[in-house]
Amino acid sequence: MQTAHRSIVVLTGAGISAESGLATFRDKDGLWEGHRVEDVACPEAFARDPARVQRFYNLRRAGLQTVEPNAAHLALARLQRDYPGEVTLLTQNVDDLHERAGSQGVIHMHGELLKVFCGRCGWKRGWQGDLTGSDPCPSCERTHTLRPDIVWFGEIPYRMDEIEDVLMRAEVFAAIGTSGHVYPAAGFVSLARFHGAATIEINAQGTQVSGQFDRHLVGPATVEVARWVEECLG
Ligand code: NAD
Repeated sequence: MQTAHRSIVVLTGAGISAESGLATFRDKDGLWEGHRVEDVACPEAFARDPARVQRFYNLRRAGLQTVEPNAAHLALARLQRDYPGEVTLLTQNVDDLHERAGSQGVIHMHGELLKVFCGRCGWKRGWQGDLTGSDPCPSCERTHTLRPDIVWFGEIPYRMDEIEDVLMRAEVFAAIGTSGHVYPAAGFVSLARFHGAATIEINAQGTQVSGQFDRHLVGPATVEVARWVEECLG
């Protein structure tokens, strides 16, 4: 007989969006879309060359309009909808594919590509088009202060207190399409496990944190996530 779990926490990474056509973080050369992380994804890069960083995220934002959620995003939305217990979705992804698949209350710990904020006054809003240094902040009206709402390397991920709370209560923790290279997300498995969760890793290949999981489903997310969701829904 299968036991129903009351609380499932799912962490997703770039691998879940790969089959939608979005590049994962690191290819074999250690580059993201042909750029060094130090040139486009840290506050120092933005201070040094804001136009280059804005261009990078403008391209990613435009690219997002050309892709669709895949079977893995859809399966997780179904899990949230049909599972009798609580299903919390944490993502490191800055895309909006979980929302477009129908997921609710997604915690974007690394921010969202389709939002911007003012580094001066804190104004934050949705933003669909390109962003340039000459766009004035609609609130404080200064220029050169708006930036993508992305948590860069060296910055603190969003909503960590809430995340720790759900991880400590999780009965099942699943990590999908994440390499386990980026902390604090890479440490979530050990926290959930310490508090008694059963842990499962779903990935196209083994990762440097695979040893910390009880169970592994190895293969493309579109296949393996759909399979796992079927299993959870019994
Ligand atoms: P990562 O690129 O470091 O790792 C991707 C993982 O996904 C790898 O372990 C790889 O084996 C796996 N993978 C690749 N294709 C897969 C598939 N089809 N099915 C299952 N697994 C697959 O990504 P990460 O761990 O998420 O790195 C974190 C950083 O990447 C985050 O900070 C995030 O903000 C950023 N990022 C986000 C996006 C996005 O929003 N779509 C894209 C690129 C990078």
